[in-house]
Amino acid sequence: MTQLPAQAPTVASTVRDIVRTGAAGEKAPAATLTTWGQTFMSQLYGPQTAVRYECRPRYTTEPWLEALPSDVLQARKRGLEVRALYLHPKAQPPTKKHRLREGVCVDCHEAEWLAGPECTPPPPSRDQRAALPFDPFWFREPLQALQQIAATKVINHYDCLKWDRECTYLIERLDQYLKDTQA
Ligand SMILES: [Zn+2]
Repeated sequence: MTQLPAQAPTVASTVRDIVRTGAAGEKAPAATLTTWGQTFMSQLYGPQTAVRYECRPRYTTEPWLEALPSDVLQARKRGLEVRALYLHPKAQPPTKKHRLREGVCVDCHEAEWLAGPECTPPPPSRDQRAALPFDPFWFREPLQALQQIAATKVINHYDCLKWDRECTYLIERLDQYLKDTQA
C-alpha cells in the first residue's frame, strides 16, 4: 500500500481532526492547537485563490463548464458569466480589523499570534466623576496645567490630547451643572 504524500492541513482536515480528538476524549497538545488555529486563520481569513473557474453563456441557465484561462480573461467579449470556486467557504470579514504595531494591536492590545480575526477593544473605562455631583475642585489641575503652559509656552503632543480631553469633559459637566441649577 502506497503512502499518500503529507498534505498541508485544510479547514476540512482540521475540523475532522478536532472532531476525532473530541470523540476520543483526548487532550490535544498545545502545538496541535496552535496548528489548528493557524490553519483556520490562514485558510478562512487569509487571501484565497480560486481552485476552479466555471463559465456559461450570459443570461442562460446552461450547466456550468470549466472555464479556460482565456474565458476568464475575455469573459465580457465572449459573453460569458464566470464563477470562481473556492476550496473553503469565505469567512465573514471582521467588522473591525486589528491595527498591528510591532506584533501587537494598538486597539485591543492582543499579540498578533494570539489574536482572533475580530478586533474587540475593551470598553473605555467610565469616568468615575460621572456618578458624583459637580465639584469645582476638578478644575484645579487643568487650570494649573494651563498656568504652566502659559509660563513655559511648551506643551507636548501627549499633554495636548490629555488636556483637550479633560477640558472637553469638564466643560460638558459645567454646562450640565449650570443647566440643572438654573432650571
Ligand atoms: Zn485588535
